[in-house]
Amino acid sequence: MAAAVPVTAAAILVAAGSGQRLGADVPKAFVRVAGHTLLEHAVRRFAGHPDVDSVVVVAPRAELARAAELAGPGVVVVSGGATRQDSVACGLAALEDDPSLVLVSDVARPFVPDAVIAAVVAALREGAVAVVPVVPIHDTVRARGESGALGPVVDRSTLVAVQTPQGFRRDVLAAAHAAGAPGATDDAMLVEALGHPVDPVTGADESFKITTRLDLARAETVALLSSASPARPGGTP
Ligand code: C5P
Repeated sequence: MAAAVPVTAAAILVAAGSGQRLGADVPKAFVRVAGHTLLEHAVRRFAGHPDVDSVVVVAPRAELARAAELAGPGVVVVSGGATRQDSVACGLAALEDDPSLVLVSDVARPFVPDAVIAAVVAALREGAVAVVPVVPIHDTVRARGESGALGPVVDRSTLVAVQTPQGFRRDVLAAAHAAGAPGATDDAMLVEALGHPVDPVTGADESFKITTRLDLARAETVALLSSASPARPGGTP
């Protein structure tokens, strides 16, 4: 009997944004929380995870050497593009031949719990083509018209917020990037534009996106609460 082909998963961590809304004097990936850069926090979550076989970091072109030093040995670091979509494409182009599953995650969401990574990979292994972590929306949400006037309230029980890591069959994600989709703000939208289903898994509050200075204060707390991070060897909780 032929040996089963192992299913391997790569993580592409996109970190090539400027993060101007943070008002820091360095790109967001190099901002420190609890003594470590966001890049280090994110890399250690993924590189130490038992379901992730390899990690590619997509960094600002001008900061490649620094990103490689922070990412550490065994992590491939490449430069990104003008948009997030371009940066993901740079990461895809840098993958080795073998991974058949790809996770794409924002370094701006550095505190993704192990269980979320495991859930995304598990759903892919069970046959999903594309998987996104989602969380409920707590605010009241309204549509807004072109004039700026408020439109109707949207029933929030019908809405979710989408996080990263988003997981994909690698061949499907590559085809979706080759095809492109105007206005797509994440990879799931690109894959959906090709007609593929996107499956939800339960996301986590800790996976929030660091956008403003206030988010940094929240990140300090999350880092403190999950104090096993980031120096967590071998992905053991
Ligand atoms: O700008 P935004 O917050 O949507 O960025 C989400 C993620 O995409 C961040 O981790 C950022 O570093 C990354 N990004 C990128 N290349 C860009 C723009 C954003 O890797 N050109």
